[in-house]
Amino acid sequence: MAAEKSWPRFMEKKLTNTAKLNRGKAYLVGAGPGDPGLITVRGLEILKKAEVVIYDYLAGEKLLKYVPENAEFIYAGKKGGIKHTHTQDEINAMLIDRVKRGKKVVRLKGGDPFIFGRGGEELEELVKAGLPFEAVPGVTSASAAATFAGVPITHRRYTSSVAFITGHEDPDKENSNIAWDKISTGVGTLVFYMGIKNLESITTNLMKHGRNPKTPVAVVRWASRPNQKSVVGTLDTIAEIVRVNDIKPPALTIVGDVVKLRDTINWYEERPLFGKRILVTRTREQASDLVALLEENGANCLEFPTISILPPDSWQELDNALGRIGDFQWIVFTSINAIQSFFAHLHLKGLDSRVLANCKIASVGKVTDDSLRSYGLISDLVPEKFTGEGLAEAFEKQGVTGMDILIPRALKAREILPVRLKKAGARVTVVPVYQNKRPEGIHDTLRAKLANKDLDIVTFTSSSTVTNFIDMMDVKDKKELQELMHGVKIAAIGPVTARTIEENGLKVDIQPEKYTIPDMVDAIVDYMVAHGDG
Ligand code: SAH
Repeated sequence: MAAEKSWPRFMEKKLTNTAKLNRGKAYLVGAGPGDPGLITVRGLEILKKAEVVIYDYLAGEKLLKYVPENAEFIYAGKKGGIKHTHTQDEINAMLIDRVKRGKKVVRLKGGDPFIFGRGGEELEELVKAGLPFEAVPGVTSASAAATFAGVPITHRRYTSSVAFITGHEDPDKENSNIAWDKISTGVGTLVFYMGIKNLESITTNLMKHGRNPKTPVAVVRWASRPNQKSVVGTLDTIAEIVRVNDIKPPALTIVGDVVKLRDTINWYEERPLFGKRILVTRTREQASDLVALLEENGANCLEFPTISILPPDSWQELDNALGRIGDFQWIVFTSINAIQSFFAHLHLKGLDSRVLANCKIASVGKVTDDSLRSYGLISDLVPEKFTGEGLAEAFEKQGVTGMDILIPRALKAREILPVRLKKAGARVTVVPVYQNKRPEGIHDTLRAKLANKDLDIVTFTSSSTVTNFIDMMDVKDKKELQELMHGVKIAAIGPVTARTIEENGLKVDIQPEKYTIPDMVDAIVDYMVAHGDG
C-alpha cells in the first residue's frame, strides 16, 4: 500500500497512456427489469461515463438520466411482435461504427443481455470486427417477476429445478427446438419469456405432454415497475384469465407449485399505494423526495413539473451591477435558485466569490445560508423568521439609510423586501438572475390523463404549484376544472395550499396535521387504507 501512495504522478500518466484508456470500447450492460434500482453497480458506473448509449424498449428509460447529457442516445426499439425501429444488423453496424470512432458505447439491454437478449450475437460481431468489449450481467425479468410477484422460482418444499423457455416459438410448429415432452414433466418450475401471444398453445401443449392441468400459473406484466400487474390461475384456466384481464406483453408466465407461495409472500403488490397513480406537481428539481417516499409505498408517480427554472432573458442588469459591485454595501439572497444562477453566471465570466469581498451578505434563511457556504461565503445576516418580511425587519432594526443594496432574484417575485428597504432609506437595485416559466408541452398530456381518469391522486406542496397547475390546464372556468378533476383525490401539504385549492373551487381530500413531505405521504397512505379501492 505504501508503495502505491508514493507512486509518482508522472508514472500514473505513463500507465494511462500504455493502457490506452481513451480507446473506443463497447459495454454490453444488463439494465435489469425496469426498476432503475436493479442495475448492477458496475453497470451504473459504465452508464455514467457513456459517450454513446444504444438502448432497447425494455431497458428502462429511467436509467437514461444517468447518462451524460452530451452523449449520443440511440433508441434501438424492438418491441416484441411490433415494428422494430432498427434491425439487428443495423444495431450491430451502429455499435461497431461508434466503437471504431473511439467512443465508449453502452449497449443497454433489458434484464440480462445473455438471457433471450441476443447479447451473444452482438458480442460475436464485435469479436469479428476485432473490437474490445466488456459484458455486465443484469437481473433477468424472471428473477424480478419471482421477487415482485411473491413467487420464489425455486423452493425446497416444491421444486429443485427451473427452466427459462422462450414462448416466442409457436409450440405447434413442426421440428420445435423445445423438447415439450421432456420439459412438461421433467422440470419443476417453468418460466416462459415472450409467451403471451402463444399462451393458449403453450398451456395446451404442457397438459398434452402430461403436466397436471391444476398446476398453478402466474402471469406477471411489467415486473418490478410501479405499473406491475399479475394474475394467477391454473394450466387449464390461465389463458382465459389473461384474455379477460387484457394482459399484454411484456409479461412472463411462471408455471409450477411454487406459485402457491404467492398467497403468503406477495409483499410488493400489497403495499398501501400499489397501483395508485399519483401526480406530483413540484419543480423538477424538488420532486425527488416526495416521489421516493410515495414509490416506497407502492405508488406509480407521474412527475409533472409545473415550474421550470430558466435563465433571465438578458444578463445585462446583473452585468451592470457587477460592473459597479464596489458601490454596494449589501447583497441579499432570498432563494437557492438565485444563488445558483448568480454564481453560475459569475463563473462563466471567469469571476468568483472574491467579487463580493467588500459587500456584506444577507440570506433569507438556513437553506440559503448553507448554500452560500458551499461557495465559501458566510452570511452576515440571517433573520430569525425565514421570510422576506423577517429579513426586512432585521434590516430595519439595524438601519439601512443611505446604503446601496443589491438583490439578485427571480424576474417576478414578491416586492415586499425591496419596498420596505426603500422605505427604510436604502437605494435598492433588483436584478433578475432567473425566471420561473410554465413548462411547455405538458398541457395536452395532462388534460388527457384527467379526462381518461388515468390519475387517482394529485399532490400539491405549495400554493404556487396549485396556481401553476391550474394555469397549465387552461380551463375556461371553475366548472370545467371541477369536471376535469372529478373523481381525482386532492392532497395538500398544509392550510395555505389548501386554501388556494378551495379558492379555485376544488375540494381537499387529504391534508396532514404537520406540514412536511413525510407527513403528507403518511396522510395519503392513511386515506387510501381507510377508503380501500374506492
Ligand atoms: N433479456 C431479457 C429478456 C428479453 S426477451 C431479460 O433477461 O429479462 C423479452 C421478454 O422478457 C418479454 O417478452 C417478457 O416476457 C420478458 N420481460 C422483460 N422485462 C419484463 C418485465 N419487466 N416484466 C415482465 N416480463 C418482462
